Amino acid sequence: MRKTAKYDYGECEICGTRMQEKLIKQDFWIRGDLIVVEDVPAGVCPRCGEKVVKADVGRLIAKLIENSERIAKSPRISVPAIKFDTEEARV
Ligand SMILES: [Zn+2]
Repeated sequence: MRKTAKYDYGECEICGTRMQEKLIKQDFWIRGDLIVVEDVPAGVCPRCGEKVVKADVGRLIAKLIENSERIAKSPRISVPAIKFDTEEARV
């Protein structure tokens, strides 16, 4: 794999803290299906959690999630799905 130079994400737009590069998970809803893209390089604010993804990374993600063959071959994860319940939330 080709190593790319560390990208400078600059400062957080919200709180001005220096962004740190991390691999994150991003989730997308595509035609009613939840798709998780793992190990996405992104700038993450250590203070408020704001995330920034580079434009070219965003383009690559768009390509990945368009590829229905790739999606079909990907491992499945199960996630909890809970119903919105005002009674429970009042605790
Ligand atoms: Zn921040």
